[in-house]
Amino acid sequence: MSRARSFSGGTHPPGNKELSGSREIVRIPVPETLTVSLCQHLGAPSTPVVKPGDKVAFGQVLGERNGFISLPTHSPAAGKVVGVVEAPMPHRRTGPAVVISVESAEEAPAFEPWPYWGNRTPEELTDRIRDAGVCGMGGACFPTFIKLSPPPDKRIDTLIINGAECEPYLTADYRLMLESPDDVIEGMRILAAVLRVENPCIGIEVNKPDVIGLMKKKGVRVVALRTSYPQGAEKQLVHAVCRRKVPAGGLPLDIGVVVQNAGTCVAVVQAVRDGIPSVSRVTTVTGRGVRQPGNFLCSVGTPFSRLVEAAGGYGPDVKRLVSGGPMMGIAVHTDEVPVTKGTSGVLALSSEEAVGTDEGPCIRCGRCVDSCPLSLVPNMIAKASEYGKWEAARKLGALNCMACGTCGYVCPAGRHLVHYIKRAQDEIRAMARAGKGA
Ligand code: SF4
Ligand code: SF4
Repeated sequence: MSRARSFSGGTHPPGNKELSGSREIVRIPVPETLTVSLCQHLGAPSTPVVKPGDKVAFGQVLGERNGFISLPTHSPAAGKVVGVVEAPMPHRRTGPAVVISVESAEEAPAFEPWPYWGNRTPEELTDRIRDAGVCGMGGACFPTFIKLSPPPDKRIDTLIINGAECEPYLTADYRLMLESPDDVIEGMRILAAVLRVENPCIGIEVNKPDVIGLMKKKGVRVVALRTSYPQGAEKQLVHAVCRRKVPAGGLPLDIGVVVQNAGTCVAVVQAVRDGIPSVSRVTTVTGRGVRQPGNFLCSVGTPFSRLVEAAGGYGPDVKRLVSGGPMMGIAVHTDEVPVTKGTSGVLALSSEEAVGTDEGPCIRCGRCVDSCPLSLVPNMIAKASEYGKWEAARKLGALNCMACGTCGYVCPAGRHLVHYIKRAQDEIRAMARAGKGA
C-alpha cells in the first residue's frame, strides 16, 4: 500500500470521532417553526421576496440572488410566512431570516428532475446548481456554481472531492460517504462533467479505512491522506493530492484545481437528478455535553435545541455550545439559533473538553510558527494586532490566515491567536474599503 500523503505543519488534536461515528444518520422531524437564514452562503444575503401572511410551498424561493456572489434561498417546508426578521444566527450575532409556520413536511421536486443528466450541457448543469442554492457544505459555504465557472484563461484539469473531514468530533461526511456512497459518486461525476475533468479523485484520511475500501470497490480513485489537522483545508488538500502549491492570496483554480466537499456532492445530485433545492443537511451533534451523540439529517432553519433533543438532551455538565468543530467552530450563546447550510456540527462541550479561556504572556517558544500550515508567524501577527499595528500585520500576511486554529491549539500560553489575527483581518479589510490602505 502506498504511503498516505499530507502537508507540512499542522497538529494532531484528539479526534473524538468515536462519540458519533458509529451512529447511522437519523432524519429528525421538521419542527413547527423554521427560521430560514437569508445569508447561508459566502457573499451577499438573498433579497426576501415573500412577506408575512404568504403561503409557501416546499422548495419555493424565499429570497432571490442579490449580486454575482449570492444564492437564492428556498423554503424547506410548505407553510405560512409569519415574519421576515432579524434573528440570532450561529455564524454572526444576527442576520435576516424568513420565519415559517410549517403546515406540511412533504417534499416534492421544485425543479424538473433530470435522471439522465448526461444529456445536459455544462451550462445547464451549472445553472441548475446555482438556482438550487447549492453552496459548499463543508462549512465554507462558497457558492458552488462560481467554482464551476472559472475564467476562460484558467484551465481546470483536476477535481478533488474533499472527504478528509479533519475537524475533530465531526463525522457527518464520514456517515454520508458510508451510507450514501452512490450519491457522493454521482455528484462527483456531475461536477466532473461540468468541469470536463476526466479522472476526479476523492481525498480521504486514513482514519476512515472502511470508506476508503468502499470507494475503491466502487471504482473511485482514492487518495489516502494522513490523519492530520487541517488536512481538509483546500490548500493543504491540493498540495497533498497533486503536489501543487496554491499561491499566497490565490485559489486552487489558479493552478487548475477545483475542490468540492463530499456533502456538496450529495446536494448537487439532489439538485440535478432529483430537482430538490438545497434545504437540508446532515449535522453531527456531539461532545460529552449531550447524552447520545449522533448524526442527524435536518431541515435548514431547525433550531439547535431540536438537534440537542434528538441527541438525547444535555448531560449534567455543559460548558460551551459550538457551531461547527472545535478548531474552526464558533461558540454560540443560545441553542435557539437555526441550522444553516454550513452547520457541519453542533458541539456541546463539557468542562473537561472546553479549552480554557485563561491567557498568559507569549513565552516565545515558536510552536505556533512551527505548526502553521501556511508558514505564517502567528505570534508576531497577533502582537501587531494587539497594538493596533494593522500595516505591520498586513505585511506579515494576516490576510492569508485561514483561521484554522492550529496555532492557538498548540500555544502553551493559551494565547487567543486566531482572535487577534481575525481582528487584524477585519481592520485591514475595513481600511481597504474606506480607501485608507493599511
Ligand atoms: S496563523 Fe492562521 S493559518 Fe496559521 S495556524 Fe494560525 S489560524 Fe492557522
Ligand atoms: S506558541 Fe504561544 S507562547 Fe509560543 S511563540 Fe507562539 S504565541 Fe508565543
